[in-house]
Amino acid sequence: MTFMNVTIESDFVGSLPADPIQENYLRQVRGACYSFVEPSRAGKPQLLTYSSELAKSLGFSLTDCESTEFLEVFSGNSILEGMKPFAMCYGGHQFGNWAGQLGDGRAITLGELIDEDGNRQALQLKGAGKTPYSRSADGLAVLRSSLREYVCSEAMYHLGVPTTRALTLVGTGDAVIRDMLYDGHPAPEPGAIVCRVAPSFVRFGNFEICAAQRDLKLLKQLADYTINADFPALKDAEEPQKYVAWFEEVVDRTVNMIVHWMRVGFVHGVMNTDNMSILGLTIDYGPYGWLEDYDPDWTPNTTDAATRRYRYGQQPWVAQWNLLQLANAIVPLIGETKPLEDALNRFPPTYQERWERTVRNKLGLTELGSKETPLITELENVLKLTETDMTLFFRELANLDVDATISAEDPVHEMESVFYEPTSISAKQREQLNQWLRSYATLIKHQDQDPEQRIARMNATNPLYVPRNYLAQLAIDEIENGNLKYLEDWMSVLKNPYSEQPGKESFATKRPDWARTRVGCSMLSCSS
Ligand code: AMP
Ligand code: MG
Repeated sequence: MTFMNVTIESDFVGSLPADPIQENYLRQVRGACYSFVEPSRAGKPQLLTYSSELAKSLGFSLTDCESTEFLEVFSGNSILEGMKPFAMCYGGHQFGNWAGQLGDGRAITLGELIDEDGNRQALQLKGAGKTPYSRSADGLAVLRSSLREYVCSEAMYHLGVPTTRALTLVGTGDAVIRDMLYDGHPAPEPGAIVCRVAPSFVRFGNFEICAAQRDLKLLKQLADYTINADFPALKDAEEPQKYVAWFEEVVDRTVNMIVHWMRVGFVHGVMNTDNMSILGLTIDYGPYGWLEDYDPDWTPNTTDAATRRYRYGQQPWVAQWNLLQLANAIVPLIGETKPLEDALNRFPPTYQERWERTVRNKLGLTELGSKETPLITELENVLKLTETDMTLFFRELANLDVDATISAEDPVHEMESVFYEPTSISAKQREQLNQWLRSYATLIKHQDQDPEQRIARMNATNPLYVPRNYLAQLAIDEIENGNLKYLEDWMSVLKNPYSEQPGKESFATKRPDWARTRVGCSMLSCSS
């Protein structure tokens, strides 16, 4: 039978030590990187949507994807030959404090396969039931949070941001009880499962737990496995330099990921070290959000409201702090701290340099010298003057008529659609905005750059379609009412986030007023 002509491997399982206990009950696990666990049964699974090009790249045919078997596998009801499902053991620093063992409490990796480019990809179900790491929770996920993960990971991929991907979104047909607002009103919600795809789901926390348990043998095994599997260019390097070079590479990839987040206006919301991928991929889409009005102090996560640790503007420095925790964990492999400290100290200048290059592209500038720098410093102030939609601001900037802006009395008039409350802009604010726009246009005019090239560069850096918070809520409302069409339309728009798509303007519209205060639109709890 040619059905599901994919070969599933279990390289992670075959290479690293397993928890010897096979029963599924809560426990502290030692001396092992994972525990075997079977997914729970979904009562009445339904394939709500799937990513057809990802499926194809993994070797699934269209017939496969539309088959009952496919649905059975990605709802956790059926295990294909070669799959040895497991949950990983990891720890983590949550909100700045060491939290001990966490682990895959509701994620189960089914196995790996080789994609059409020859790369290994692991398939992982999220929300398929309890594992030995579920602690006090149920191992399940609700439709609203699964849809948000599905949409955002695929959107990020098409935006060019390093990310785990999503293959399927399956409704389980079972109810899941959640107290969405943590206000003592638990209620049943539809359950769902996302199948995530990534070369590896190993996190900083996988190394931290080995170090916390003083299990240096396991630490080395996991590091060697990770380097061999995911950093092959380093695998033949001499020890201990190999581990230093690996850490440098992780720092580099993490910087890269954060620069992309900042470029597109993404706020992760829960940057705990158990949510930091060793590959520098965006992982664990929970109470994330997208900047609507530009506010570097904004966090979408209500659990983080008090200290705003994970606010937009702080993400680079949290990433550096998280890397410090990783460095602390792997120090025993190197025997001295200096090379790791040096790598960490290079984080700020590396970030700064890449961010400046990104801002240059966002603004369409050819240089970043003494004339441009004050303009960029002032940009931050200008964006904060009045509620300004970050995404639309940069797109409109590319559309500015340069000559008209220089000579116009009130150039900001042309940009009014990007402000949330244009009528409340004071005369003083208006003048500040106008001055900035005139200086910007003057700089652009005196640059030696073809205008079309500049616009193309800006529009390739500044997306038009991002998965806005309120659009996710609309998609959730539709899907909870059984209407899948809205999600399909939206996903197809998100495949080309940098190109204007006539007729699809509603997917690029700034947040309507009703969404300002609606739960799920700009504020999210961790309840998922
Ligand atoms: P996160 O929200 O990704 O920071 O999750 C922190 C930890 O809680 C991880 O170990 C998760 O696996 C676990 N967790 C979160 N939600 C659930 C759930 N519904 N059931 C079991 N474990 C969970
Ligand atoms: Mg997590």
